[in-house]
Amino acid sequence: MGLTHQGSRGLHVESVALEDIAARFGTPCYVYSRLALTAAYVGYRDALMAHGLGERALVCYAAKANSNLAILKLFADLGAGFDIVSGGELARVLAAGGSADKIVFSGVGKSREEMRLALEAGIHCFNVESTSELEQLNELAGGMNRRAPVSLRVNPDVDAKTHPYISTGLKTAKFGVAFDQAFDTYRRAATLPHLAVKGIDCHIGSQLLDPAPAAEAADKVLALVDRLAAAGIVLEHIDLGGGMGIQYRREEPAPATADYLAPMLAKFTGRHEKLIFEPGRSLVGNAGLLLTRVQVLKPGAEKHFAVVDAAMNDLMRPALYDAWHDIVPVAKVGAGDTAMPYEIVGPVCESGDFLGHDRELALQEGGLLAVLSAGAYGMAMASNYNSRPRAAEVMVDGTQTHLIRRRESVAELFALESVLP
Ligand SMILES: *Cc1c(COP(=O)(O)O)cnc(C)c1O
Repeated sequence: MGLTHQGSRGLHVESVALEDIAARFGTPCYVYSRLALTAAYVGYRDALMAHGLGERALVCYAAKANSNLAILKLFADLGAGFDIVSGGELARVLAAGGSADKIVFSGVGKSREEMRLALEAGIHCFNVESTSELEQLNELAGGMNRRAPVSLRVNPDVDAKTHPYISTGLKTAKFGVAFDQAFDTYRRAATLPHLAVKGIDCHIGSQLLDPAPAAEAADKVLALVDRLAAAGIVLEHIDLGGGMGIQYRREEPAPATADYLAPMLAKFTGRHEKLIFEPGRSLVGNAGLLLTRVQVLKPGAEKHFAVVDAAMNDLMRPALYDAWHDIVPVAKVGAGDTAMPYEIVGPVCESGDFLGHDRELALQEGGLLAVLSAGAYGMAMASNYNSRPRAAEVMVDGTQTHLIRRRESVAELFALESVLP
């Protein structure tokens, strides 16, 4: 994310010292780089252009990865569409200036109210995940005198070889319509008068580093599209979901966007359908970090602990998926500083509250640490557990720093509550 050491002032994001951000906005604080967000989107756009798909493709940012308005607005201005999973995300995307006709609506359990709002807004497509959802949407659209644009999320039954919690394309997953039932489900959809069958979609999982499973899923989807066309159901678009992985460890680089997409894109030469992708993590993950300050150092007999002011409520991925994030000191390490293995933990009352295990670092109380690759599923999954106000969020743009979400106050945390009369 354009992280560099600049002289004695330590780590910088673009041209801004993290030390200055901490002094101005406090910690914990999420820091994003406008340049890195833009570069990630351009990576998709260039790969699509290189395959002659520039005009025929739409990149729909999966808002759930990070739904801050400033980030949504940045992608909307770059021409992105959006993949949403709730009425809340619909409202956010519209508030940020996203166009309704570039929104696809995913999710296994859309409520009637969410469907109604999306129909009213005029979204591009509902990614429908079950026969019951088709029937419900048909009925609702009829009542509103509309035709709902639909795509079926099919489950291609490929093993994405990622963490079980973020693997979604196996037969056993709750997501999508089983592949062997998809053809009949399309035929059913085509008979429903208030639906317009537009496309097909799949999303097999997240943090995928090997392009092979996604390419295999694309093959299955394309074969089904051709079979449907032969039966008179001609689809306008094919949505291959998101899932491209990012770099979390220095030693484990992620593939370049163009390389990851190439095997999928090659299959589209000579076809007429529009292509949609729904990337989340790969657009924002490496463009954000979590800035935190060391509160206390606790040397122990077995382990040394560094208790920092960020915790599992701020960044849940380590506790939830045992995920690794590189953690680096903000200050330049001096010649006399000796590194020791530390457990980097937060103040929350849970033993699962850690940000990193066994990190070889030279630390001082009061020093700043940057938890890297925290732009995706970081703030988006943050909670107020232990009555901790959620972190501030800032975006760096060159030499400027913009506050894009102020820190919550403690009073705000219980403002919606009331005691018995
Ligand atoms: C979460 C999700 C995405 C985005 O996944 P990433 O791994 O963040 O790219 C895309 N589509 C659907 C349906 C999702 O649920």
